[in-house]
Amino acid sequence: MDGLVVVTLHSTHADIVCRAASAGKHVFVEKPLTLTVADARRAATASREAGVVLQVGHHRRFQGATRRVKGLIDSGELGEIYQLEANLSGPSGGSRTGWRSDPAECPAGSMTGLGVHMVENLHYLAGPVKCVSAFCSKISSVGNLDDVTNIIMEFESGTLGYVGTAYGIPKVFNTAAFGTGGNAWSEDEGKRLRKLGIDPSAVEVADLGGLRGGNDTPAETGARARLLIEAAISKLDAYDGFRPENAKMLIAWEEEMSRRSLFTLPPVRYEMIPSIRGEDCFAADGCRICSNLCPHNALAVSPEGRMILSKGRCTGCGACVSACPAGAFDFPGASLPQL
Ligand code: SF4
Ligand code: SF4
Repeated sequence: MDGLVVVTLHSTHADIVCRAASAGKHVFVEKPLTLTVADARRAATASREAGVVLQVGHHRRFQGATRRVKGLIDSGELGEIYQLEANLSGPSGGSRTGWRSDPAECPAGSMTGLGVHMVENLHYLAGPVKCVSAFCSKISSVGNLDDVTNIIMEFESGTLGYVGTAYGIPKVFNTAAFGTGGNAWSEDEGKRLRKLGIDPSAVEVADLGGLRGGNDTPAETGARARLLIEAAISKLDAYDGFRPENAKMLIAWEEEMSRRSLFTLPPVRYEMIPSIRGEDCFAADGCRICSNLCPHNALAVSPEGRMILSKGRCTGCGACVSACPAGAFDFPGASLPQL
């Protein structure tokens, strides 16, 4: 036997890891590593000195959209990262039994079961933490555990981060990064990436000459329009590789908003989706790999033999991007290894 997997009570992890290390065994230990900093240091030191691997079961960082948020940060597309947020919560607090309902094994409510994943996610996104404050609260009369825990972190980079976790509320599962170049969310258990900014295509089509009205002077109207266009250009620069065809707008502004309202509403929300470089695609030669595998029937061949992507149907899952043998897809913010 070369190693062991530790899935016992949280409070037993440190001793088992130390005994395994002294026997020269590698360890995969379920999260949380331990319940105290002292125990964590003891387990890590024993493993390091014995020359064995100690791995903790934090799998959430490998979820696709979370890795794409990390890619956006590392590439500089989100600019300077000011804030990180993460929340993992669920309804199962009162129904927990046995040691899972024991505050000695599960301090800070859902931290050991849920929140610890998000602490790991923020550490993955921003690196070492400099200082931490945390608050726990027992609100309901059900069960023995705290209901809600909030953590504020300052990272060595200066970025601030927040982790929230609770039992007894509907499911929440997201990790977000907010930077000077844009905001990005990993949502729906890391399946969906969302980015926020001003969609340059929306500003492009606005009839700037038709915006005058009300009490604004022409100079004021012009200044507002100029500001928005500059913001759109900045956003375009920030999302390197971004083109309007990669933006799926989540507000049907064509139907629900006037052109004037484009200049008074908050920035448009959009999701990134792939686009096809027609010159690299060989659909005309019969390739149907992407359209055959798309789970949402978002790809189809036009009468002229071109592969066409339907923005309305595409969810940005990325399956077509990694499958295309010609590398004919562009998907800003997502490299092939990330997909
Ligand atoms: S898999 Fe690539 S080359 Fe084949 S049809 Fe789709 S985009 Fe074109
Ligand atoms: S990203 Fe997913 S949904 Fe969109 S076209 Fe490709 S396979 Fe279909």
